[in-house]
Amino acid sequence: MEEHRTRLIVLGRQGAGKGTQCARLAARLSVPHISTGALFRIEVARGTDLGRRAGAFLDAGALVPDELVIDLVATHLGSTEARAAGYLLDGFPRTLAQGQALFEVLGERAADVAVELHVPTSVVLPRLAARRVCQECGATSTAAPGDPETTICSICGGPVGRRTDDTDEAIQRRLADYDRESGPLLEWLEGRGLLVRVDGVGEPDVVHHRLLDAVRSRVPVIDGALEP
Ligand code: AMP
Repeated sequence: MEEHRTRLIVLGRQGAGKGTQCARLAARLSVPHISTGALFRIEVARGTDLGRRAGAFLDAGALVPDELVIDLVATHLGSTEARAAGYLLDGFPRTLAQGQALFEVLGERAADVAVELHVPTSVVLPRLAARRVCQECGATSTAAPGDPETTICSICGGPVGRRTDDTDEAIQRRLADYDRESGPLLEWLEGRGLLVRVDGVGEPDVVHHRLLDAVRSRVPVIDGALEP
């Protein structure tokens, strides 16, 4: 029987714990974790042409134009091997046009399931203000109250700081963007029977198992290995 690697979309407002949960879920499902935000930050840090074109949008906390994002994803999922490995898309699609492009480029089987990790604004705002990211490896962490602005990454030893797009103004803008842009996308995914909503409030372990259950509700056998 041909092996079917899971193809998963994870949606959620910034600060919903998506990055951390996605990394863990991707490892559990043995599929690559593709985060468009992380990929853009790498392009910016490397000073590539794409990084230069996308950088101003990232700094402003604004959505990068659809064509640039679709190009980025098409590059990463361009080869048959990349698609055969399955994937967890984190932060893409973010708009209806991106969702439609994903299915146009990759066909009907572009996603087995789309999970929305739902967390209310009152919970995400303080989390975003405390969020720190490693400038070297991109790992995210949460600053304890009173922590200095720059510390050292516990994973790679690189410098850790606030994301340039984590100013209060940019945070508000991204939350408003999510509600405006992702609403029609969520409806469209629901219409295709792909959307499962998951409560993102709770202990990380509990949320992880809710996410796994959501995936299992659409992909009963995850790469031949069900969680014990
Ligand atoms: P994230 O790490 O997911 O919060 O993404 C950081 C930034 O990257 C966003 O604020 C946007 O500027 C850009 N970005 C990432 N993914 C997308 C996307 N699917 N569409 C548009 N912009 C994106």
